[in-house]
Amino acid sequence: MRSESTLGRAVLVSVVIYAALIIVFTLVGMAAAPAEAQVGAARPASAIPVHLGELVGFGFLLGGLSVVFYGRKALPIIIATPLLVALLDLDHLPAYIGLAQPIRPAHSFVFIMVALVCTAIVLRRLDFELILVSSFTGHLGIDQGLFAPFSPLSFDYVQLDPYRIPLLLCSIVSALLAGYLWRRENGRRASQ
Ligand SMILES: [Zn+2]
Repeated sequence: MRSESTLGRAVLVSVVIYAALIIVFTLVGMAAAPAEAQVGAARPASAIPVHLGELVGFGFLLGGLSVVFYGRKALPIIIATPLLVALLDLDHLPAYIGLAQPIRPAHSFVFIMVALVCTAIVLRRLDFELILVSSFTGHLGIDQGLFAPFSPLSFDYVQLDPYRIPLLLCSIVSALLAGYLWRRENGRRASQ
């Protein structure tokens, strides 16, 4: 049976990979986006705590849904999901220090595909693939406004708003499925 330390290590590894790739996608976006797409702006300071609160709050909800199946010992998951949900906004940082950047360069399906592949290679855990999908789609479902779904391959911006409900549903189903798969796997091992 997997130990808590294994779960803690998986949380640490997935958070480090996710954060590193957000920074890579931010830098690549700044280099690759045409000048007319470099219109990413800093959010007004007064709006930051509210938006961060929404992201972290929804992350706790998703983590809590996973733990319905993982059980009480899986506290690292409750911490991991809000952290992963909130981290995606690291891709706004250049705008805060006055640098030109594209809008939300890591809020991209290319980004999540790369993150899933890298995490799969290192961790080989389907439950963590689903936690990443849940955190990513949960974040996009909370956001509003423009994003470039295929950044850094294309900086054609699309409105997020019509997709918010399907994204939020995807995040909830993935969070539940992550816990369910983990429990099924552990049950199978225990019965062997
Ligand atoms: Zn965002």
